[in-house]
Amino acid sequence: MSQAAPMTINDGRLSMATWLTSPNYNKRPINISIDTIVIHNISLPPDEFGACGADGVHYVKALFTNQLDWNAHPYFQTIQGAEVSAHLFIERDGSVTQFVNFEERAWHAGRSSYLGRPDCNDYSIGIELEGSDFVSFSAEQYETLAQVITTIYKAYPKTRRHLTGHSDIAPNRKTDPGDYFEWPKLRELIAKNLNQ
Ligand SMILES: [Zn+2]
Repeated sequence: MSQAAPMTINDGRLSMATWLTSPNYNKRPINISIDTIVIHNISLPPDEFGACGADGVHYVKALFTNQLDWNAHPYFQTIQGAEVSAHLFIERDGSVTQFVNFEERAWHAGRSSYLGRPDCNDYSIGIELEGSDFVSFSAEQYETLAQVITTIYKAYPKTRRHLTGHSDIAPNRKTDPGDYFEWPKLRELIAKNLNQ
């Protein structure tokens, strides 16, 4: 493990994340508790990692900030006009970008339901991993994700009971984070962090 300064969350922002403001968020409902973490994967174009537009901006970051050039790739035309975001995006090297304050409602889950409660965006934190349903995730991503989740657990203790995947809350629509995502590995790393 590295000896880097411990991660913290202050005023809804993760200390070690690079901040990039997304316009795609709104207020959470009044009196709602943040109690769930939703894991996703995303890559643009699908199954390509680290791809950037002519402006040098990572395509996923461009999507979450409404800067994506819909004409840059045929696939992008199939999602043209999408207004989406996540609270966090973790790249293959483990670097983290935050787009939406945790206290605000990011637009990552879409039509969804968890334990009988609809609209998971209302009460969840959404974390996107750069990845696909057909490729293993990197060791750096698991390390960072486990640290991030441990930090979220401390700031939002109710989330400790509700760690889930997009495919679990939107089973007929979504397949991410996919079969290559190793939940046992993640849970082991989280447990190790919590016991430190
Ligand atoms: Zn997803």
